[in-house]
Amino acid sequence: MDPLQTDRLVAELRDEFRSGRTRPMDWRAAQLRAMLRMIDEREGEIIEALDRDIGKPAYETYVAELSTIANSCTNALKHLRSWMAPEKVSTSMISFPSSGEIVPEPLGVALVISAWNFPFLLSLDPVIGAICAGNAVVLKPSELAPATAALLAKLVPLYLDKKAIRVVEGGVPETTALLDQQWDKIFYTGSTRVGKIVMAAAAKNLTPVVLELGGKSPVLVDSNVDVKVTARRIALGKWGNNNAQACISPDYILADESVVPKLITAIKECLLEFYGDDPSRSKDIARVVNGSHFERLTGLLDEDGVKDKIVFGGARDSNKLFIAPTVILDPPADSAVMTEEIFGPLLPVIPVDSMESAMSFVNTRPKPLALYLFTRDKALEKKVVSETSAGGMVVNDTVLHFVTETMPFGGVGHSGMGAYHGKFSFDAFSHRKAVLYRGFWADMASRYPPYTIAKQNF
Ligand code: NAD
Repeated sequence: MDPLQTDRLVAELRDEFRSGRTRPMDWRAAQLRAMLRMIDEREGEIIEALDRDIGKPAYETYVAELSTIANSCTNALKHLRSWMAPEKVSTSMISFPSSGEIVPEPLGVALVISAWNFPFLLSLDPVIGAICAGNAVVLKPSELAPATAALLAKLVPLYLDKKAIRVVEGGVPETTALLDQQWDKIFYTGSTRVGKIVMAAAAKNLTPVVLELGGKSPVLVDSNVDVKVTARRIALGKWGNNNAQACISPDYILADESVVPKLITAIKECLLEFYGDDPSRSKDIARVVNGSHFERLTGLLDEDGVKDKIVFGGARDSNKLFIAPTVILDPPADSAVMTEEIFGPLLPVIPVDSMESAMSFVNTRPKPLALYLFTRDKALEKKVVSETSAGGMVVNDTVLHFVTETMPFGGVGHSGMGAYHGKFSFDAFSHRKAVLYRGFWADMASRYPPYTIAKQNF
């Protein structure tokens, strides 16, 4: 994308924003309703695009992408008026008499850069926030999900306001050109490495950012759990979401050593039940996105000290870009599978002598995007909540916090900054302006110079 094109794009969007068209609630609500119509009328095309990009099962696309976006729109339509309403606040004696309110205002022109793994959801969910808050917005979907990116570029202008909501397709050069522009907000979803590039570019213009990044999300399993339910919920959270190519996918398990044999058996049973003897033939599990991620993942598996620790799975088919769900028992702590974000179907299980050991393992590593705890022990629950740090946490299940729109979704430390979903999406794209109102009466002379002794003693 040449610089003149990006200059023009941003200038046009700024004009749209300055015209005031994106501010009224009617405009915002009309876009949300149009998005709902788009999902309803184009469901088949969207499912097909995600199948082409990552072999995503139609049911997963329906549940994790289409219905999540539809819920975001309906939830926003229900609450938009109250989100937009100024919030009355009490004021200080110093400004007496006065009243005050916090007025949410749109930031202006926002840039949304999204990832390939949930290419529909992660593109439109932040855009919903930008629209709700009354901004003009550019969406740059991931080039690694090209069918979905092309479909978004086709559908968004057909359904939404094509002057104020734009889609730009492309990869690194196009994103770099966009990042050279001045934005009022940048919302980025992707790797921690690129997150740093985005933040450095934003810093040049003091542009605020939301960074939705990745990391290694641990699962802590106590000795007292219902092993069967634990295994099912871990297995679904891991392989049932894009064959584990999800930012909040369980990355590794730290399990009390007494429960490890039973847990591994239960996970194996789940996998056989979910995907059969040959998961590469199952229609219910996604493939790896591309050849370079396939090689990265097989590289993790083939490392010395790791490959002989595979206790289940390990099969791969480079023609189908498929790697079977794989469980690795106790790989070395310094192996790549235990130091890099896996983002694929490999699941290390590390036996620990206590949940305290598990907590200190987690606490000495970068803060994860999600942390999962399985236990019946309420005191441990409290301890883990208060003594570990993570973007979000689920006790006795996995990934479901993502679809809980009353909760902020985002990372902390290396897993990101800022949050969205529900009202938090509206807040992410708004400025909360403090407005203090005063009249002309009770104009206290004691405020004004000269500061005589009499005034000081007042
Ligand atoms: P990525 O960082 O490679 O790409 C994301 C976006 O950045 C794409 O649109 C891409 O075009 C752009 N990009 C890539 N390299 C760039 C560069 N050098 N300069 C400017 N822009 C560049 O990430 P990905 O592979 O698409 O996604 C996987 C990562 O994203 C994982 O780490 C995963 O955990 C994380 N993720 C996080 C969330 C979340 O909500 N926190 C969701 C999904 C994925």
